[in-house]
Amino acid sequence: MIGILGGGQLGRMLALAGYPLGLRFRFFDPSADAPVRYLAEQVVAPYDDHLALDQFSHGLTVATYEFENVPVTTARALERRIPVFPPPQALEAAQDRLQEKRFFASLNIPTVPFAPVDDRESLEAAVVRIGLPAVLKTRRLGYDGKGQVILRTHTDVDPAWHALGGQPLILEKFIAFDRELSVLAVRGQDGGIACYPLVENVHRNGILHRSIAPAPGLAAETQMLAETYARRVLEALDYIGVLAIELFEIDETNARTTGARLLANEMAPRVHNSGHWTIEGAVTSQFENHVRAIVGLPTGATSARGYAAMVNLIGSLPDVTMLLALPDVHVHLYDKAPRPGRKLGHVTICAGDVTQLADRLAVVERYVLAC
Ligand code: AMP
Repeated sequence: MIGILGGGQLGRMLALAGYPLGLRFRFFDPSADAPVRYLAEQVVAPYDDHLALDQFSHGLTVATYEFENVPVTTARALERRIPVFPPPQALEAAQDRLQEKRFFASLNIPTVPFAPVDDRESLEAAVVRIGLPAVLKTRRLGYDGKGQVILRTHTDVDPAWHALGGQPLILEKFIAFDRELSVLAVRGQDGGIACYPLVENVHRNGILHRSIAPAPGLAAETQMLAETYARRVLEALDYIGVLAIELFEIDETNARTTGARLLANEMAPRVHNSGHWTIEGAVTSQFENHVRAIVGLPTGATSARGYAAMVNLIGSLPDVTMLLALPDVHVHLYDKAPRPGRKLGHVTICAGDVTQLADRLAVVERYVLAC
């Protein structure tokens, strides 16, 4: 029996990957309406309810988390009863953007230039040090582009402080990157590491809209560089499970042949939206590999079966009849009520070559964005 903190779509897909291996799941989520509600046992309680956590942990072999804002104290309290993977220190490192960037820097993994901002004075000092344009972000609880303001000129400093001031912040240099990539890696209990092919990601309104895997036209050196960075993070944290690192690619030569610079933006100590394509598109999905790793089973091959793309279904759902009529197109719905900006499902498109993938993706995207 595996315990999972968080009962969202990631938890749902973890359970769906673990059932064929004969595993059972129990979820802990504050909402009775969580996407896992018809799928597995669920303890409904706030994350700081340690009595409920005790009840949750009873009979579990191992626990994991699918939501990166689970309080670290909850994960640590659980760890006193049963093994928790990835280790709660990974959760801690990922929850605070400043700590996270300092952690990358300590491992010689390049990031955008950054400075801590605690008050109006330190914001002024950070603007002088980092220069403009820059992005002011909350250190905690920011996701999908929330809690961020871009500063283009000095006139933006005051409004940005009014919007976000009064909580710990970080100022980052605004980088004109060429594209966004992510690397997903899994580390098993034997210390073995495997990385998936890098993914190219496109965001709309701060939310992941589309991923393509393997990232088109990627130099082998860039894949190797990302794998080196992922390995450093996994080993430093004595990590077990799947980890995602979001990267900015800066390709000064514009050739994409000799490898490019990669800056680490943030990491997620869990399965990740940019890895959903692996369900149909890779030999072993990120969900199955995470489950295998945390229960101590051998991890499976991470290679792509062909070419794949993933499009998120956000805010409202299209009629899936047309999507399901397309060849090698797969629909995943998360059993969530529609709400603007909410991830309700995703579509994975598989193909035998890049041209076929581009053609099929164009049809799916046109249809999804029209809804
Ligand atoms: P984050 O919440 O840090 O992942 O930021 C959300 C999105 O904002 C990223 O995926 C980027 O597209 C963009 N972004 C974040 N930080 C920067 C930056 N320092 N420079 C340029 N774009 C950024």
